Amino acid sequence: MKIFDCVVIGGGVVGAAIFNKIVRLGKSCVLLDKASDVATGASKANSGIVHAGYDPKPGTLKAKLNVRGAKLFPQICKRLGVKLNCCGALVVGDDKEKILELYNRGLQNKVKVEIWDKKKLHEKVPKLNANLNVALWAEDSKTVSPYLFTIGLVEEGMINGGKVLLEADISAISKDGDVFKIETQRGMIYSKSVVNSAGAGYNQIARLLGSETKKIQLRRGEYFVFDKNTLDVPCTIFPLPTDLGKGVLLTPTVDGNFLVGPTSAPSDDVTAVTKTGLDEIRQKAHLLMPDIDFRNTIRQFSGIRTICGDDFVIEKSRKVPGVVNLAGICSPGLSSAPAIAEMVINLLGYSTKEKDNLKKIQPYVMFKNMSKRQQKEILKTDPSFGQIVCKCEKITKGDILAVLKRPLKIKSVDAIKRRTNAGMGRCQGGFCFTKVVKAIAQERKIEYKNVLKENRGSFVAVGDIREEE
Ligand SMILES: Cc1cc2nc3c(=O)[nH]c(=O)nc-3n(C[C@H](O)[C@H](O)[C@H](O)COP(=O)(O)OP(=O)(O)OC[C@H]3O[C@@H](n4cnc5c(N)ncnc54)[C@H](O)[C@@H]3O)c2cc1C
Repeated sequence: MKIFDCVVIGGGVVGAAIFNKIVRLGKSCVLLDKASDVATGASKANSGIVHAGYDPKPGTLKAKLNVRGAKLFPQICKRLGVKLNCCGALVVGDDKEKILELYNRGLQNKVKVEIWDKKKLHEKVPKLNANLNVALWAEDSKTVSPYLFTIGLVEEGMINGGKVLLEADISAISKDGDVFKIETQRGMIYSKSVVNSAGAGYNQIARLLGSETKKIQLRRGEYFVFDKNTLDVPCTIFPLPTDLGKGVLLTPTVDGNFLVGPTSAPSDDVTAVTKTGLDEIRQKAHLLMPDIDFRNTIRQFSGIRTICGDDFVIEKSRKVPGVVNLAGICSPGLSSAPAIAEMVINLLGYSTKEKDNLKKIQPYVMFKNMSKRQQKEILKTDPSFGQIVCKCEKITKGDILAVLKRPLKIKSVDAIKRRTNAGMGRCQGGFCFTKVVKAIAQERKIEYKNVLKENRGSFVAVGDIREEE
Protein backbone atom coordinates (compact mmCIF):
# COMPACT_ATOMS: atom_id res chain seq x y z
CA MET A 1 0.00 0.00 0.00
CA LYS A 2 1.56 3.28 -1.16
CA ILE A 3 1.02 6.21 1.18
CA PHE A 4 1.44 9.54 -0.59
CA ASP A 5 2.71 12.63 1.19
CA CYS A 6 -0.21 14.68 -0.08
CA VAL A 7 -3.40 14.56 -2.13
CA VAL A 8 -4.52 17.80 -3.75
CA ILE A 9 -8.22 17.85 -4.62
CA GLY A 10 -9.03 20.18 -7.54
CA GLY A 11 -7.08 20.62 -10.76
CA GLY A 12 -7.67 24.32 -11.30
CA VAL A 13 -4.76 26.76 -11.42
CA VAL A 14 -4.50 26.82 -7.63
CA GLY A 15 -4.49 23.02 -7.15
CA ALA A 16 -2.09 22.73 -10.09
CA ALA A 17 0.34 25.25 -8.59
CA ILE A 18 0.24 23.43 -5.24
CA PHE A 19 0.69 20.00 -6.87
CA ASN A 20 3.59 21.31 -8.98
CA LYS A 21 5.33 22.84 -5.97
CA ILE A 22 4.93 19.74 -3.78
CA VAL A 23 6.39 17.53 -6.53
CA ARG A 24 9.28 19.95 -7.06
CA LEU A 25 10.12 19.58 -3.35
CA GLY A 26 10.53 15.84 -3.91
CA LYS A 27 7.33 14.83 -2.09
CA SER A 28 4.92 12.27 -3.47
CA CYS A 29 1.65 13.83 -4.53
CA VAL A 30 -1.62 12.98 -6.28
CA LEU A 31 -3.79 15.58 -7.98
CA LEU A 32 -7.46 14.54 -8.14
CA ASP A 33 -10.20 16.10 -10.22
CA LYS A 34 -13.72 14.94 -11.00
CA ALA A 35 -13.52 16.53 -14.49
CA SER A 36 -12.06 14.98 -17.67
CA ASP A 37 -9.26 17.54 -17.87
CA VAL A 38 -7.55 20.05 -15.62
CA ALA A 39 -8.57 23.73 -15.80
CA THR A 40 -12.24 23.14 -16.52
CA GLY A 41 -13.59 25.30 -13.64
CA ALA A 42 -12.95 29.01 -12.98
CA SER A 43 -9.42 28.52 -14.30
CA LYS A 44 -10.56 28.13 -17.89
CA ALA A 45 -13.02 31.01 -17.95
CA ASN A 46 -11.61 34.25 -16.60
CA SER A 47 -9.96 37.44 -17.86
CA GLY A 48 -6.49 35.86 -17.94
CA ILE A 49 -4.93 38.88 -16.29
CA VAL A 50 -1.90 38.60 -14.06
CA HIS A 51 -2.82 41.62 -11.99
CA ALA A 52 0.02 43.83 -10.79
CA GLY A 53 -1.58 43.99 -7.32
CA TYR A 54 -2.55 47.67 -6.84
CA ASP A 55 -6.23 46.83 -6.26
CA PRO A 56 -6.53 44.47 -3.23
CA LYS A 57 -6.86 46.09 0.18
CA PRO A 58 -3.38 46.41 1.76
CA GLY A 59 -2.68 43.83 4.46
CA THR A 60 -5.06 41.20 3.07
CA LEU A 61 -4.01 37.80 1.78
CA LYS A 62 -5.26 38.92 -1.63
CA ALA A 63 -2.80 41.84 -1.63
CA LYS A 64 0.15 39.86 -0.32
CA LEU A 65 -0.34 36.81 -2.53
CA ASN A 66 -1.25 38.77 -5.66
CA VAL A 67 1.91 40.87 -5.50
CA ARG A 68 4.16 37.87 -4.75
CA GLY A 69 2.37 35.65 -7.32
CA ALA A 70 2.70 38.25 -10.09
CA LYS A 71 6.45 38.45 -9.38
CA LEU A 72 6.77 34.67 -9.76
CA PHE A 73 4.85 34.47 -13.06
CA PRO A 74 7.64 35.45 -15.50
CA GLN A 75 10.10 32.82 -14.26
CA ILE A 76 7.45 30.06 -14.09
CA CYS A 77 6.07 30.90 -17.56
CA LYS A 78 9.60 30.85 -18.95
CA ARG A 79 10.22 27.45 -17.38
CA LEU A 80 6.94 26.05 -18.73
CA GLY A 81 7.20 27.71 -22.15
CA VAL A 82 3.89 29.55 -21.56
CA LYS A 83 3.43 32.91 -23.28
CA LEU A 84 3.06 36.01 -21.09
CA ASN A 85 1.86 39.23 -22.67
CA CYS A 86 3.53 42.14 -20.84
CA CYS A 87 0.95 44.66 -22.01
CA GLY A 88 0.37 46.66 -18.80
CA ALA A 89 -3.00 47.92 -17.56
CA LEU A 90 -4.86 51.20 -17.29
CA VAL A 91 -7.68 52.04 -14.88
CA VAL A 92 -9.53 54.88 -16.56
CA GLY A 93 -12.06 57.34 -15.21
CA ASP A 94 -13.17 60.90 -14.78
CA ASP A 95 -12.68 61.04 -11.02
CA LYS A 96 -9.13 61.95 -10.05
CA GLU A 97 -9.74 61.29 -6.35
CA LYS A 98 -10.73 57.71 -6.96
CA ILE A 99 -7.71 57.17 -9.19
CA LEU A 100 -5.53 58.68 -6.44
CA GLU A 101 -7.04 56.24 -3.93
CA LEU A 102 -6.03 53.34 -6.16
CA TYR A 103 -2.60 54.89 -6.69
CA ASN A 104 -2.04 55.04 -2.93
CA ARG A 105 -3.19 51.45 -2.54
CA GLY A 106 -0.71 50.51 -5.24
CA LEU A 107 2.09 52.29 -3.36
CA GLN A 108 1.09 50.60 -0.09
CA ASN A 109 1.16 47.21 -1.85
CA LYS A 110 4.59 48.14 -3.31
CA VAL A 111 3.38 48.00 -6.90
CA LYS A 112 4.77 50.23 -9.68
CA VAL A 113 1.96 52.68 -10.53
CA GLU A 114 1.73 56.04 -12.31
CA ILE A 115 -1.02 58.59 -12.78
CA TRP A 116 -1.63 59.62 -16.38
CA ASP A 117 -3.34 62.79 -17.57
CA LYS A 118 -5.84 62.92 -20.42
CA LYS A 119 -3.21 63.66 -23.08
CA LYS A 120 -1.00 60.69 -22.23
CA LEU A 121 -4.02 58.42 -21.84
CA HIS A 122 -5.52 59.26 -25.22
CA GLU A 123 -2.13 59.01 -26.93
CA LYS A 124 -1.86 55.42 -25.69
CA VAL A 125 -5.50 54.51 -26.45
CA PRO A 126 -6.83 56.95 -29.08
CA LYS A 127 -10.27 55.31 -29.35
CA LEU A 128 -11.15 55.79 -25.68
CA ASN A 129 -14.24 57.76 -24.71
CA ALA A 130 -13.32 61.47 -24.68
CA ASN A 131 -14.91 61.86 -21.19
CA LEU A 132 -12.17 59.74 -19.65
CA ASN A 133 -9.53 62.17 -18.50
CA VAL A 134 -7.40 60.48 -15.88
CA ALA A 135 -5.87 57.03 -15.46
CA LEU A 136 -3.74 54.78 -13.32
CA TRP A 137 -1.04 52.94 -15.28
CA ALA A 138 0.33 49.65 -13.93
CA GLU A 139 3.14 48.54 -16.20
CA ASP A 140 3.58 45.16 -14.49
CA SER A 141 0.08 43.90 -15.34
CA LYS A 142 0.21 41.06 -17.88
CA THR A 143 -2.04 38.56 -19.64
CA VAL A 144 -1.60 34.80 -19.84
CA SER A 145 -3.57 31.80 -21.06
CA PRO A 146 -4.95 30.62 -17.70
CA TYR A 147 -5.51 27.08 -18.96
CA LEU A 148 -2.11 26.67 -20.66
CA PHE A 149 -0.50 27.90 -17.45
CA THR A 150 -2.49 25.32 -15.44
CA ILE A 151 -1.78 22.51 -17.91
CA GLY A 152 1.94 23.38 -17.90
CA LEU A 153 2.09 23.20 -14.10
CA VAL A 154 0.32 19.84 -14.08
CA GLU A 155 2.39 18.29 -16.86
CA GLU A 156 5.64 19.47 -15.31
CA GLY A 157 4.51 17.89 -12.03
CA MET A 158 3.70 14.64 -13.84
CA ILE A 159 7.03 14.29 -15.63
CA ASN A 160 8.70 14.78 -12.25
CA GLY A 161 6.82 11.95 -10.59
CA GLY A 162 3.45 13.47 -9.60
CA LYS A 163 0.31 11.41 -10.25
CA VAL A 164 -2.90 12.82 -11.72
CA LEU A 165 -6.30 11.15 -11.56
CA LEU A 166 -9.04 12.69 -13.71
CA GLU A 167 -12.71 11.69 -13.61
CA ALA A 168 -11.98 10.68 -10.04
CA ASP A 169 -15.19 11.31 -8.10
CA ILE A 170 -14.61 10.86 -4.40
CA SER A 171 -17.23 8.78 -2.59
CA ALA A 172 -15.76 8.75 0.93
CA ILE A 173 -12.79 9.98 2.96
CA SER A 174 -11.83 8.41 6.28
CA LYS A 175 -8.79 8.57 8.51
CA ASP A 176 -6.95 5.65 10.03
CA GLY A 177 -4.45 7.08 12.54
CA ASP A 178 -2.53 9.70 10.57
CA VAL A 179 -3.41 8.30 7.15
CA PHE A 180 -6.31 9.52 5.01
CA LYS A 181 -8.12 6.86 2.99
CA ILE A 182 -9.73 8.43 -0.06
CA GLU A 183 -12.18 6.27 -1.98
CA THR A 184 -12.43 7.37 -5.60
CA GLN A 185 -13.97 6.01 -8.74
CA ARG A 186 -10.39 5.44 -9.90
CA GLY A 187 -9.37 3.43 -6.84
CA MET A 188 -8.31 3.94 -3.22
CA ILE A 189 -5.65 6.51 -2.36
CA TYR A 190 -3.79 6.77 0.93
CA SER A 191 -2.18 10.01 1.99
CA LYS A 192 -0.65 11.77 4.98
CA SER A 193 -2.30 15.09 4.14
CA VAL A 194 -5.09 16.52 1.98
CA VAL A 195 -5.43 19.94 0.35
CA ASN A 196 -9.00 20.97 -0.45
CA SER A 197 -8.64 23.18 -3.53
CA ALA A 198 -11.92 22.22 -5.17
CA GLY A 199 -13.13 25.77 -5.90
CA ALA A 200 -16.92 25.73 -6.18
CA GLY A 201 -16.84 22.12 -4.89
CA TYR A 202 -15.10 23.14 -1.63
CA ASN A 203 -18.02 22.33 0.71
CA GLN A 204 -18.67 18.94 -0.87
CA ILE A 205 -15.06 17.93 -0.11
CA ALA A 206 -15.13 19.59 3.33
CA ARG A 207 -18.17 17.45 4.26
CA LEU A 208 -16.42 14.27 3.11
CA LEU A 209 -13.36 15.25 5.15
CA GLY A 210 -15.39 16.31 8.20
CA SER A 211 -13.52 19.64 8.07
CA GLU A 212 -14.87 23.20 8.20
CA THR A 213 -17.64 24.07 5.71
CA LYS A 214 -17.85 27.72 4.61
CA LYS A 215 -20.48 30.17 3.47
CA ILE A 216 -19.72 30.36 -0.23
CA GLN A 217 -21.30 32.64 -2.77
CA LEU A 218 -21.08 32.03 -6.51
CA ARG A 219 -21.07 34.91 -9.00
CA ARG A 220 -21.08 34.49 -12.74
CA GLY A 221 -18.94 36.59 -15.06
CA GLU A 222 -19.93 36.69 -18.73
CA TYR A 223 -17.73 37.72 -21.66
CA PHE A 224 -17.58 38.42 -25.37
CA VAL A 225 -14.55 37.18 -27.34
CA PHE A 226 -13.55 39.43 -30.24
CA ASP A 227 -11.79 38.24 -33.37
CA LYS A 228 -8.10 39.10 -33.83
CA ASN A 229 -7.22 42.66 -34.95
CA THR A 230 -10.73 43.98 -34.38
CA LEU A 231 -10.17 46.24 -31.36
CA ASP A 232 -7.65 48.99 -30.84
CA VAL A 233 -6.72 47.89 -27.32
CA PRO A 234 -2.96 47.85 -26.62
CA CYS A 235 -3.26 47.01 -22.91
CA THR A 236 -5.88 45.93 -20.38
CA ILE A 237 -8.37 48.73 -19.77
CA PHE A 238 -10.43 48.74 -16.58
CA PRO A 239 -13.11 51.16 -15.46
CA LEU A 240 -12.90 52.34 -11.84
CA PRO A 241 -13.58 49.33 -9.56
CA THR A 242 -16.80 49.00 -7.54
CA ASP A 243 -17.82 46.78 -4.59
CA LEU A 244 -18.74 44.08 -7.10
CA GLY A 245 -15.26 43.88 -8.56
CA LYS A 246 -13.10 45.31 -11.27
CA GLY A 247 -15.97 45.93 -13.69
CA VAL A 248 -16.37 45.36 -17.44
CA LEU A 249 -12.89 45.58 -18.95
CA LEU A 250 -11.24 45.27 -22.34
CA THR A 251 -8.15 43.10 -22.61
CA PRO A 252 -5.93 41.58 -25.28
CA THR A 253 -5.35 37.82 -24.97
CA VAL A 254 -1.98 36.18 -25.62
CA ASP A 255 -3.38 34.88 -28.92
CA GLY A 256 -4.29 38.31 -30.31
CA ASN A 257 -8.03 38.15 -29.56
CA PHE A 258 -9.78 40.51 -27.14
CA LEU A 259 -12.04 39.80 -24.17
CA VAL A 260 -14.76 42.21 -23.19
CA GLY A 261 -16.46 41.54 -19.85
CA PRO A 262 -17.04 40.23 -17.20
CA THR A 263 -20.37 40.86 -15.54
CA SER A 264 -20.89 39.94 -11.90
CA ALA A 265 -24.25 38.43 -10.99
CA PRO A 266 -25.31 35.86 -8.37
CA SER A 267 -25.50 32.42 -9.95
CA ASP A 268 -25.49 28.68 -9.49
CA ASP A 269 -22.51 26.62 -10.66
CA VAL A 270 -23.63 26.74 -14.29
CA THR A 271 -21.65 28.50 -16.97
CA ALA A 272 -24.26 30.15 -19.15
CA VAL A 273 -24.55 33.44 -20.95
CA THR A 274 -27.66 35.54 -20.66
CA LYS A 275 -29.21 38.32 -22.70
CA THR A 276 -29.16 40.57 -19.62
CA GLY A 277 -25.45 39.87 -19.08
CA LEU A 278 -24.47 40.45 -22.70
CA ASP A 279 -26.54 43.66 -22.92
CA GLU A 280 -24.82 44.93 -19.78
CA ILE A 281 -21.38 44.25 -21.30
CA ARG A 282 -22.27 46.12 -24.50
CA GLN A 283 -23.54 49.11 -22.58
CA LYS A 284 -20.56 49.28 -20.16
CA ALA A 285 -17.94 48.63 -22.84
CA HIS A 286 -19.31 51.50 -24.93
CA LEU A 287 -18.73 53.82 -21.95
CA LEU A 288 -15.03 52.96 -22.27
CA MET A 289 -14.83 52.88 -26.06
CA PRO A 290 -17.88 54.15 -27.95
CA ASP A 291 -16.83 52.72 -31.34
CA ILE A 292 -16.64 49.05 -30.36
CA ASP A 293 -18.33 47.02 -33.08
CA PHE A 294 -19.92 43.98 -31.46
CA ARG A 295 -20.39 42.36 -34.89
CA ASN A 296 -16.73 41.33 -34.53
CA THR A 297 -17.40 38.99 -31.63
CA ILE A 298 -16.87 35.31 -32.32
CA ARG A 299 -17.98 33.75 -29.04
CA GLN A 300 -19.44 34.36 -25.60
CA PHE A 301 -18.62 32.45 -22.43
CA SER A 302 -18.89 32.71 -18.68
CA GLY A 303 -16.94 31.69 -15.59
CA ILE A 304 -18.01 31.27 -11.98
CA ARG A 305 -16.35 33.12 -9.11
CA THR A 306 -16.24 31.37 -5.72
CA ILE A 307 -16.45 34.00 -3.01
CA CYS A 308 -16.09 33.51 0.75
CA GLY A 309 -16.12 36.87 2.55
CA ASP A 310 -13.74 39.62 1.53
CA ASP A 311 -10.48 37.71 1.44
CA PHE A 312 -9.04 34.33 0.42
CA VAL A 313 -9.40 31.64 3.09
CA ILE A 314 -6.20 29.57 3.27
CA GLU A 315 -5.77 27.75 6.56
CA LYS A 316 -4.98 24.50 8.31
CA SER A 317 -8.17 22.75 9.36
CA ARG A 318 -8.71 22.98 13.10
CA LYS A 319 -11.12 20.04 13.00
CA VAL A 320 -9.06 17.57 10.97
CA PRO A 321 -5.27 17.67 11.37
CA GLY A 322 -3.48 17.12 8.07
CA VAL A 323 -6.03 19.06 6.02
CA VAL A 324 -5.40 22.45 4.40
CA ASN A 325 -8.52 24.37 3.34
CA LEU A 326 -8.66 26.85 0.44
CA ALA A 327 -11.98 28.62 0.03
CA GLY A 328 -13.14 31.71 -1.82
CA ILE A 329 -10.22 31.83 -4.22
CA CYS A 330 -11.79 34.37 -6.54
CA SER A 331 -9.94 37.14 -8.36
CA PRO A 332 -6.95 37.63 -8.15
CA GLY A 333 -6.63 33.85 -7.69
CA LEU A 334 -4.92 33.25 -11.02
CA SER A 335 -2.32 35.95 -10.34
CA SER A 336 -1.82 34.65 -6.79
CA ALA A 337 -1.66 30.91 -7.57
CA PRO A 338 2.16 30.53 -7.41
CA ALA A 339 2.26 32.42 -4.09
CA ILE A 340 -0.72 30.46 -2.73
CA ALA A 341 1.29 27.30 -3.45
CA GLU A 342 4.19 28.65 -1.37
CA MET A 343 1.82 29.46 1.49
CA VAL A 344 0.29 25.97 1.40
CA ILE A 345 3.76 24.37 1.45
CA ASN A 346 4.43 26.36 4.58
CA LEU A 347 1.14 25.25 6.19
CA LEU A 348 1.95 21.63 5.35
CA GLY A 349 5.28 22.09 7.16
CA TYR A 350 7.45 21.12 4.19
CA SER A 351 10.97 22.47 3.71
CA THR A 352 11.17 24.87 0.77
CA LYS A 353 14.23 23.30 -0.87
CA GLU A 354 13.44 21.96 -4.34
CA LYS A 355 14.94 18.62 -5.35
CA ASP A 356 17.90 18.47 -7.74
CA ASN A 357 17.68 17.30 -11.36
CA LEU A 358 14.07 18.28 -12.00
CA LYS A 359 13.05 17.38 -15.54
CA LYS A 360 12.27 20.17 -17.99
CA ILE A 361 8.91 20.24 -19.72
CA GLN A 362 8.72 20.23 -23.52
CA PRO A 363 6.62 23.30 -24.35
CA TYR A 364 3.72 23.10 -26.83
CA VAL A 365 4.96 24.28 -30.25
CA MET A 366 2.45 24.20 -33.09
CA PHE A 367 3.69 23.43 -36.60
CA LYS A 368 2.95 27.02 -37.72
CA ASN A 369 5.34 28.34 -35.06
CA MET A 370 8.23 26.01 -35.93
CA SER A 371 11.18 27.28 -37.93
CA LYS A 372 11.21 26.42 -41.63
CA ARG A 373 14.02 23.94 -40.94
CA GLN A 374 12.05 22.23 -38.14
CA GLN A 375 8.96 22.09 -40.37
CA LYS A 376 10.91 20.39 -43.17
CA GLU A 377 12.47 17.88 -40.74
CA ILE A 378 9.18 16.93 -39.08
CA LEU A 379 7.36 16.56 -42.42
CA LYS A 380 9.97 14.01 -43.53
CA THR A 381 8.99 11.63 -40.73
CA ASP A 382 5.37 12.63 -40.08
CA PRO A 383 3.16 13.76 -42.99
CA SER A 384 0.24 14.44 -40.61
CA PHE A 385 1.88 17.83 -39.95
CA GLY A 386 1.06 18.61 -43.58
CA GLN A 387 -2.70 18.19 -43.05
CA ILE A 388 -4.46 21.35 -41.90
CA VAL A 389 -7.34 20.55 -39.54
CA CYS A 390 -8.28 24.03 -38.25
CA LYS A 391 -8.15 26.48 -41.14
CA CYS A 392 -8.76 29.58 -39.01
CA GLU A 393 -5.90 28.92 -36.58
CA LYS A 394 -3.79 26.84 -39.03
CA ILE A 395 -3.52 23.81 -36.77
CA THR A 396 -2.42 20.53 -38.32
CA LYS A 397 -3.45 16.99 -37.58
CA GLY A 398 0.13 16.39 -36.43
CA ASP A 399 -0.26 19.14 -33.79
CA ILE A 400 -3.38 17.46 -32.45
CA LEU A 401 -1.87 13.98 -32.38
CA ALA A 402 1.23 15.36 -30.62
CA VAL A 403 -0.94 16.91 -27.91
CA LEU A 404 -2.79 13.62 -27.45
CA LYS A 405 0.56 11.88 -26.80
CA ARG A 406 1.42 14.13 -23.86
CA PRO A 407 1.28 12.92 -20.22
CA LEU A 408 -2.32 13.99 -19.48
CA LYS A 409 -4.55 11.51 -21.30
CA ILE A 410 -7.23 13.88 -22.50
CA LYS A 411 -10.09 12.80 -24.74
CA SER A 412 -12.30 15.82 -25.34
CA VAL A 413 -12.61 18.33 -28.15
CA ASP A 414 -12.38 21.22 -25.68
CA ALA A 415 -9.18 19.81 -24.18
CA ILE A 416 -7.64 19.87 -27.68
CA LYS A 417 -8.98 23.37 -28.23
CA ARG A 418 -7.32 24.64 -25.02
CA ARG A 419 -3.95 23.18 -26.01
CA THR A 420 -3.85 23.92 -29.75
CA ASN A 421 -6.46 26.66 -30.41
CA ALA A 422 -8.18 24.36 -32.97
CA GLY A 423 -11.77 25.63 -33.00
CA MET A 424 -10.93 29.04 -31.51
CA GLY A 425 -10.96 30.96 -34.76
CA ARG A 426 -13.66 32.83 -36.59
CA CYS A 427 -15.62 29.72 -37.64
CA GLN A 428 -15.53 28.37 -34.05
CA GLY A 429 -14.98 24.76 -35.04
CA GLY A 430 -17.46 24.70 -37.93
CA PHE A 431 -14.77 23.26 -40.19
CA CYS A 432 -12.53 21.30 -37.81
CA PHE A 433 -14.86 19.85 -35.18
CA THR A 434 -15.39 16.47 -36.84
CA LYS A 435 -11.74 16.27 -37.85
CA VAL A 436 -10.68 16.81 -34.24
CA VAL A 437 -13.18 14.14 -33.11
CA LYS A 438 -11.68 11.69 -35.61
CA ALA A 439 -8.11 12.45 -34.49
CA ILE A 440 -9.06 11.84 -30.84
CA ALA A 441 -10.85 8.58 -31.71
CA GLN A 442 -7.85 7.42 -33.77
CA GLU A 443 -5.21 8.20 -31.13
CA ARG A 444 -7.23 6.94 -28.14
CA LYS A 445 -8.46 3.91 -30.12
CA ILE A 446 -12.05 4.62 -29.16
CA GLU A 447 -15.19 4.94 -31.24
CA TYR A 448 -15.93 8.54 -32.22
CA LYS A 449 -19.23 8.15 -30.31
CA ASN A 450 -17.16 7.99 -27.11
CA VAL A 451 -15.29 11.24 -27.76
CA LEU A 452 -16.35 14.01 -25.38
CA LYS A 453 -17.05 17.68 -25.96
CA GLU A 454 -15.75 18.48 -22.44
CA ASN A 455 -16.72 16.36 -19.42
CA ARG A 456 -18.24 12.92 -18.90
CA GLY A 457 -21.60 12.52 -20.60
CA SER A 458 -20.99 15.32 -23.13
CA PHE A 459 -20.76 12.94 -26.08
CA VAL A 460 -20.32 14.67 -29.41
CA ALA A 461 -22.34 12.09 -31.40
CA VAL A 462 -25.06 9.56 -30.77
CA GLY A 463 -24.45 7.42 -33.85
CA ASP A 464 -24.27 7.23 -37.63
CA ILE A 465 -27.15 8.79 -39.53
CA ARG A 466 -27.43 5.62 -41.61
CA GLU A 467 -27.35 3.45 -38.49
CA GLU A 468 -30.14 5.53 -36.94
CA GLU A 469 -32.25 5.29 -40.07
C1 LIG B 1 -15.18 35.78 -14.45
C2 LIG B 1 -13.88 35.62 -13.74
C3 LIG B 1 -12.80 36.44 -14.03
C4 LIG B 1 -11.59 36.30 -13.37
N1 LIG B 1 -10.51 37.02 -13.77
C5 LIG B 1 -9.31 36.84 -13.16
C6 LIG B 1 -8.16 37.52 -13.62
O1 LIG B 1 -8.16 38.18 -14.63
N2 LIG B 1 -7.02 37.39 -12.89
C7 LIG B 1 -6.96 36.63 -11.77
O2 LIG B 1 -5.93 36.62 -11.13
N3 LIG B 1 -8.03 35.91 -11.36
C8 LIG B 1 -9.19 35.99 -12.04
N4 LIG B 1 -10.27 35.26 -11.66
C9 LIG B 1 -10.13 34.34 -10.55
C10 LIG B 1 -9.49 33.02 -10.97
O3 LIG B 1 -10.05 32.55 -12.17
C11 LIG B 1 -9.71 32.01 -9.87
O4 LIG B 1 -9.26 32.56 -8.67
C12 LIG B 1 -8.95 30.73 -10.10
O5 LIG B 1 -9.18 30.22 -11.38
C13 LIG B 1 -9.40 29.72 -9.06
O6 LIG B 1 -8.70 28.54 -9.28
P1 LIG B 1 -9.07 27.27 -8.44
O7 LIG B 1 -8.06 26.24 -8.79
O8 LIG B 1 -9.20 27.64 -7.00
O9 LIG B 1 -10.54 26.87 -8.87
P2 LIG B 1 -11.08 26.13 -10.19
O10 LIG B 1 -10.36 26.52 -11.39
O11 LIG B 1 -12.56 26.30 -10.19
O12 LIG B 1 -10.72 24.61 -9.90
C14 LIG B 1 -11.42 23.81 -8.99
C15 LIG B 1 -11.32 22.39 -9.49
O13 LIG B 1 -11.89 21.53 -8.52
C16 LIG B 1 -12.57 20.50 -9.19
N5 LIG B 1 -13.58 19.95 -8.29
C17 LIG B 1 -14.69 20.56 -7.83
N6 LIG B 1 -15.37 19.72 -7.03
C18 LIG B 1 -14.67 18.56 -6.99
C19 LIG B 1 -14.87 17.31 -6.36
N7 LIG B 1 -15.94 17.08 -5.61
N8 LIG B 1 -13.96 16.33 -6.56
C20 LIG B 1 -12.87 16.54 -7.35
N9 LIG B 1 -12.63 17.71 -7.98
C21 LIG B 1 -13.52 18.71 -7.79
C22 LIG B 1 -13.19 21.17 -10.40
O14 LIG B 1 -13.48 20.23 -11.42
C23 LIG B 1 -12.10 22.17 -10.80
O15 LIG B 1 -11.23 21.63 -11.77
C24 LIG B 1 -11.47 35.35 -12.34
C25 LIG B 1 -12.55 34.50 -12.06
C26 LIG B 1 -13.72 34.60 -12.78
C27 LIG B 1 -14.81 33.62 -12.53
